[in-house]
Amino acid sequence: MKHYYIETFGCQMNVHDSEKMAGILKSEGYTAVGSAEDADILIFNTCSIRQKAEQKFFSELGRIKSLKKRRPDLKIAVAGCIAQQEGIKIIERAPHVDYVVGPQNISALKDIITSQSDSVFTDDNLAITEIELPIERRDNVRAWVNIMYGCNNFCSYCIVPYTRGRERSRASQSIINEIKDLAEKGYKEVTLLGQNVNSYKGNVDFPGLLKEINKIEEIKRIRFVTSHPKDLSDELIYAIRDLDKVCEHIHLPLQSGSSKVLALMNRKYTYADYIKKIEQLKREIPEIAITSDIIAGFPQETDEDHNDTIKALKEVEFDSIFAFKFSPRPGTKASTMDGQLPDDIKSNRLSEILELQNKITERKNNGLKGTIQEVLIEGVDEKTSNKFSGRTRTNKVVNVLFDSTIKPGDTIKVKITTARRHSLEGEIV
Ligand code: SF4
Repeated sequence: MKHYYIETFGCQMNVHDSEKMAGILKSEGYTAVGSAEDADILIFNTCSIRQKAEQKFFSELGRIKSLKKRRPDLKIAVAGCIAQQEGIKIIERAPHVDYVVGPQNISALKDIITSQSDSVFTDDNLAITEIELPIERRDNVRAWVNIMYGCNNFCSYCIVPYTRGRERSRASQSIINEIKDLAEKGYKEVTLLGQNVNSYKGNVDFPGLLKEINKIEEIKRIRFVTSHPKDLSDELIYAIRDLDKVCEHIHLPLQSGSSKVLALMNRKYTYADYIKKIEQLKREIPEIAITSDIIAGFPQETDEDHNDTIKALKEVEFDSIFAFKFSPRPGTKASTMDGQLPDDIKSNRLSEILELQNKITERKNNGLKGTIQEVLIEGVDEKTSNKFSGRTRTNKVVNVLFDSTIKPGDTIKVKITTARRHSLEGEIV
């Protein structure tokens, strides 16, 4: 029996890619183990979206060198966006690495474990939308489903179009087949994945795809990430409003409240465009939860621009945000722009953003106390282990005490009794 260990950094796309790698390894007779020490193959699925994630990976890679010395038979593969970006340079820098596999070449993992082959797999893979890989999913209730790969937007700070290539959509029938299969296996919720799902172009457009998935009986909830504000159409807003299984939540990255900074970011919308879409979303779907991404301290961002972001947070009142300091990524336009800001300014702006958003999130969560929410039970709450954990349709985590009448996969009604910043608690009604 051979064993594998996968360490995953980064976004949902990477988490799902790791599920595919695990699927390939399992189909070749490997089983998962809990540590690199016990593995025959160790895979780092890396992220290069921010310098911090990259540094963390390289320090892990350095640490593993002594293990490879003790166990030269251990195979080490580097996958994900750093693999794509650096290619052979990873092996030159760290000769204890055996293989480098970019995100478009996950299927090469089979060659690696079944035969001695090349060590670097980073070619553009135009057929990626047609490759069906076995998937070892981490969850039994919720499943990720890729609907498209890559991105055409070239936001000036982002490395993704260079590592994951141009946009390519999967055929809608193949997506529907995968979801029907998930439904047969008992899954209740699907999250459709893509860098910019709004620009999905299969045999139907994205709202059309949602309509088709909405017909699959056993699937109770449909979510999707990520949406680009410039491609958020009226039809998509109506689909969220009208399709009963499409959840009332949208992740709509704003990045900055300053239209000048948005232009520097090449986001292709102004703050006025953005707020118009938010108003429309709130008008059509009053209960909708809106989450977002914010970058603090982009090159040339002035105090006034930063204040525009603060104003935007107050105006939109996001349910929650992911906010980070601007991190220059080699190879992107923003990394060489004039007006790079010192770290202390970026840190101060980030703190102000987070402090404000924390208050907004707490206030919004508190407003849910006493309300009845529909919660899909996902599993046991890892922190307390005497509670079930699930989510509202608006994607808020809710914990309820164990009850013998419910199990993961059930949808129940819960009265919210306690609100925290990151979760809610409630009683079954
Ligand atoms: S939309 Fe922009 S931020 Fe998102 S993946 Fe594409 S280039 Fe990167």
